[in-house]
Amino acid sequence: MLNEEIGTILIVDDSPSNSEMLFQILTGVGFKVRVAVNGENAILEVTKNPPSLILLDILMPGIDGFDTCIKLKANPATREIPIIFITSFADTESKVKGLSLGGVDYITKPFHVAELLARVSVHLKLSCLTQKVAEQAIDLQKANQKLQRLADLDGLTQVANRRRFDEYLEREWQRLRRERAPLSLILCDVDYFKQYNDRYGHVAGDNCLKQVALAIERTLKRPADLVARYGGEEFALILPNTELVGAVQLAEMARLEVQKLKIAHVCSQSSPYVTLSIGVSSQIPEPINTPQSLLAAADRALYEAKRLGRNRCCVQTIS
Ligand code: GH3
Ligand code: MG
Ligand code: MG
Repeated sequence: MLNEEIGTILIVDDSPSNSEMLFQILTGVGFKVRVAVNGENAILEVTKNPPSLILLDILMPGIDGFDTCIKLKANPATREIPIIFITSFADTESKVKGLSLGGVDYITKPFHVAELLARVSVHLKLSCLTQKVAEQAIDLQKANQKLQRLADLDGLTQVANRRRFDEYLEREWQRLRRERAPLSLILCDVDYFKQYNDRYGHVAGDNCLKQVALAIERTLKRPADLVARYGGEEFALILPNTELVGAVQLAEMARLEVQKLKIAHVCSQSSPYVTLSIGVSSQIPEPINTPQSLLAAADRALYEAKRLGRNRCCVQTIS
């Protein structure tokens, strides 16, 4: 890697002869170099146009090197730029102070040119690596979020999948038990769907499920409501903080919304179109019950809706 490819070095020194010497050494091996004549000037320069590395003198009029370092480390935009102190203060106390303030290295004058260059080079590489690692961590985080979204979705209908449903039901059950607020559950099952597949084919069947999922989703109003594909042609809705009356209203809306799609189903015995049978249950979660008891009640209600002729909503309480 050519030195000029790794960016600019900023020399901060109030002594023109010191700056000039460092400038010659660094430009001589191909670095791009800028110079600031004091701490204030350095902070302005760094904020305006961040360098890749800073060589910072300590004893300067105005704010000294230590305070300049403190200010640069306090600003998130300049915090990551490596600072090497370069000074005639050779005492341990100053070295420790410089490093504890966030300096990556401490070089005392007089120095050997080869050693200065070696240290500058090491810190530029390290800083470059650190930056790459930070960027990769952000990419990884984004990829994880995307993966999490995918892991929660049903591939066919793009509503939540069963895994997400189970997780959400359990979480809301616990939360509403503490809150002593109602949790409603709706189970929807497409009527005579086996016949639909047999008559229209599986591709049409898949397409039908997608439309049904979208129609059900359209009826949801609150951000906390969740629609999920519960199984093959069954969809489930979790409605936190919703009383039975509200849940029944919503179930009825979902049933009508699907009916409104007017997806022809000549083999259905309940309608010329694709329809839903729906079971609703609701309760304020109690310690003696589980989310499974709420599910079982909704399932019994669904069975009842089927038994009574399909294309309808029924309600069951937890027994
Ligand atoms: P009912 O009115 O009693 O609900 O009868 P049904 O035919 O709808 O119920 P049954 O459980 O007998 O059949 C469900 C059908 O759903 C069978 C299965 O092939 C179909 N199915 C399940 N998942 C999918 C899917 O992802 N795509 C398609 N095309 N069909 C599916
Ligand atoms: Mg079914
Ligand atoms: Mg069915």
